[in-house]
Amino acid sequence: MNIRCSCGRTFDASVDMSAPEVIVRCPSCSQVLRVRNRKATVAAMSSSDVVAAKVKRCEIISGLLWLVIGAVQVFFVYTAAAGVWNVINAILRLRSVGNIRAGNPEVVSWYENRRTSLIIFAVVNLVLGGVVGVALVAFDWWVRDYVLNNKSAFMGDSVPAVGK
Ligand SMILES: [Zn+2]
Repeated sequence: MNIRCSCGRTFDASVDMSAPEVIVRCPSCSQVLRVRNRKATVAAMSSSDVVAAKVKRCEIISGLLWLVIGAVQVFFVYTAAAGVWNVINAILRLRSVGNIRAGNPEVVSWYENRRTSLIIFAVVNLVLGGVVGVALVAFDWWVRDYVLNNKSAFMGDSVPAVGK
């Protein structure tokens, strides 16, 4: 990172790029300088987008895996019902992935209401022979927890941006 001191000297300092502000000492006049790290500030401001992007990514991965599991289940007669059900739900999920974005409070209530459907998913897959499906329910449960622990990322529009 290139830093220009008020004494006119420009020097290169190796600083922690993730910190929003770093303190360096000028090598020629020994002045202590506070340097704002623009990159880190930008990263801190868009943390909601980071959360939303992560949830979106998990949702796409999960949706695709459900699609694969469902497709495989359809081929086995005794799991065909669960397979069809998994495929339909996976398609519905992948179609709504676009709604997952920072500042959309609907995402939170969507995940809050998902508890029941996750339990139904687990039961259907357990009864109709999809152990992998049960593991995937656990993953979806983790994503749900992640969303509910990071509610603020999606509630951004409705609350005033104080203390951000
Ligand atoms: Zn200086």
